Amino acid sequence: MAAVATDTLPNTQTDGSSVSEAAPEPKALTDGFHLVIDALKLNGIHTIYGVPGIPITDLGRLAQAEGMRVLSFRHGQHAGYAASVAGYLTQKPGICLTVSAPGFLNGLTALANATTNCFPMILISGSSEREIVDLQQGDYEEMDQLAIAKPLCKAAYRVLHAEDIGIGIARAIRAAVSGRPGGVYLDLPAQLFAQVMDEEAGRNSLVEVIDPAPAQIPAPDAVDRALEVLKGAKRPLIILGKGAAYAQVDETIQAFVEKSGIPYLPMSMAKGLLPDTHPQSAGAARSLALKESDVVMMIGARLNWLLSHGKGKTWGEAPKKFVQIDIEPREMDSNVEIAAPLVGDIGSCLTALMDGMGDNWASPPQDWIDAIRTKVETNVARMAPKLQNNNVPMDFHGALGALRTIIKERPDITLVNEGANTLDFARSIIDMYQPRKRIDVGTWGVMGIGMGSAIAAAVETGKPVLAIEGDSAFGFSGMEIETICRYNLPICVVVFNNNGIYRGTDVNPTGGDDVAPTVFVKDSRYDQMMTAFGGKGVYATSPDDVTRAVNEALDSGIPTLVNAIIDEKAGTESGRIGNLNPQSVVSKK
Ligand code: ADP
Ligand code: MG
Repeated sequence: MAAVATDTLPNTQTDGSSVSEAAPEPKALTDGFHLVIDALKLNGIHTIYGVPGIPITDLGRLAQAEGMRVLSFRHGQHAGYAASVAGYLTQKPGICLTVSAPGFLNGLTALANATTNCFPMILISGSSEREIVDLQQGDYEEMDQLAIAKPLCKAAYRVLHAEDIGIGIARAIRAAVSGRPGGVYLDLPAQLFAQVMDEEAGRNSLVEVIDPAPAQIPAPDAVDRALEVLKGAKRPLIILGKGAAYAQVDETIQAFVEKSGIPYLPMSMAKGLLPDTHPQSAGAARSLALKESDVVMMIGARLNWLLSHGKGKTWGEAPKKFVQIDIEPREMDSNVEIAAPLVGDIGSCLTALMDGMGDNWASPPQDWIDAIRTKVETNVARMAPKLQNNNVPMDFHGALGALRTIIKERPDITLVNEGANTLDFARSIIDMYQPRKRIDVGTWGVMGIGMGSAIAAAVETGKPVLAIEGDSAFGFSGMEIETICRYNLPICVVVFNNNGIYRGTDVNPTGGDDVAPTVFVKDSRYDQMMTAFGGKGVYATSPDDVTRAVNEALDSGIPTLVNAIIDEKAGTESGRIGNLNPQSVVSKK
C-alpha cells in the first residue's frame, strides 16, 4: 500500500478520489520510504534484517507498519549473515538494512561473504549527501560507500531519485539471483527517502521482476561430451556442493545420483541433499574416493581450497577427468582442466543428462562400488564406540555423539555449525537427512556466522534450530542471543566450552600476567548470558546432560544456551586445517 502524504487535502478519500465536486483534483502522494517498501513487497520480499539508525530508522518502522517482518540486530554484520542465509534458503535475496559508514562497513563483511558463497543478498545502506561526500567536506558518517562496495560484491547501484527506486530495486534483485547468485549493494542517500512524488506515478514506477533467475539450458553437445566421459569411467565419483543444495531441485539430484549408480561425496552444506546414510554416500570414505576415482563429476561445487584445488596428495596418483556442472562459465578450468564442462542450471543439466542416459545406463564396475562401501562400513564401525562415550569432562566425540542422535530423531531442524575442532568433528560425525539443513562457515571458513544464521534459519523455516558453536566462534556473534530472546525464536545454542581457541591449555611462555593469546577466562558461564535476557541457560558436563537439555529446548522452543564443558586438552591446533597455519620453526626461548 502506498502512503497518502499528510499534506493531502482533508476532503480526500484514501484512494485519492474527491468527495467534493468543487474541490480541485487532490493528489495522493508517496515518498522514497514507501516506494522502497512497496518495491520489495511487489517482488515477494517480506522480511528485513537490519540495525536501525540514521538515516534508515523510519524505513524500518514504516516497513513494519506496512506488514513486513523487520528483525533488528545488535550488530550489522550479523544482520548481514542472516540476510545471506535467508537468501540461500529461499532463493530470494535476503535484505540487510544498515546505517551509513560504520553500519555499512559492518554489513559489507557479510555482503562479501555472501558473494564468495554464491548466496543472494542485498545490502541496503543509507548514505550521506552526495554533494558533501563528493567534495569530501566531512558529513555525518561520510563515506563513498558505492565505490567501496563495488569490488566486494557482484553488483552495486545507487538511486538518487524517487522515480528510480523501482528500477533500482529490480536491478538489485536480478543481479543477486540470476546466474551465479551473490551479494548486491544498494546505496540510498538520506535525501532520497524524503522525496515525494505522485502516488499513482510512484506505483507505475515499480517493477516486478519477471523470471528473476531464468533456466539456463546446457548445449546438447556439452551434454553428449559429459555422457561420453561418464561412460568411460571405471571409478566415477560425484561431488555435490552447496550450489546443488541452493538450486532446490532435490528430487532431480536424487534421481540422477540413483540412476547413475555413482558413489557421491557431499560438501559440508550439501549434506542431506540425499540422506548421509544413503548406500551411495562415500562421505565416510572421502580420502579413498578422492584418491582412487578416475572421473569426478562436480555438481554445484568448486575445486577451491576445500577440495585441495583438484590436485596434489589428496587426489592421489590416478589420472583424473573432471565433468563439471556450473551456472558460471568462468568456473570451468579455474584450478584444473575440465574435460566436460556443462554450463547451465543444475536442474536443466541433470534432466538433459538423464534423458541422454536412456533406460539401460550401466552402473559403475562393482569392484569400485564395493571398495567404497567396505571403507564406509569400516570407518563407521570404528567411529561408533567413540561416539557413545559418556566421559566427564566431555571430549568432542562424546558431546557430538549425543547431538548426532538428536539430529537423527529430528531431521527437519536446521543445524548451524562453526568453530575449529567443533566444526571439523561435527561435520563428519553428524549425519544430515534433509536438504539445506546444515549451515556452516562456508567457502571462507568465516567465524561469526553463528547467531545470524540461526536467526535466519528459525525465521525462514519456522522450525527449531540447533547451533553447535566453538566457544571462540560463539564470541563473534554472542550478543545476538538478546535478539534471539527478543523475538522468542526456537534456537538452542550449544557452546563447546574448552576455555579457548583450539584448546584452553596454552601458557604465556614469559610467565607474565597476561594469559596466552588463545586462552579465555576458565570455566566461563555462557549459560548465564542467556538467562540475562530471559532465555534458559544450562551448564552441562556430560553427554547425557547435553541430550536432556537440548531435547527440552527443542521441545519447548524456549531460547536456550547449553554451556557444554569440554576437556580443555581435547582440541588440535586450527582443527583439520592446521596445514594452512604457518608455525615458527625457529626454536623458542
Ligand atoms: P561447496 O563449497 O559446497 O563446494 P561452492 O560454493 O564452492 O560449493 O560451489 C557452488 C557452485 O554452485 C558455484 O560455483 C555456483 O556458481 C554454482 N551454482 C549455484 N547455483 C547454481 C545453479 N542453480 N545451477 C548451477 N550451478 C549453480
Ligand atoms: Mg574453544
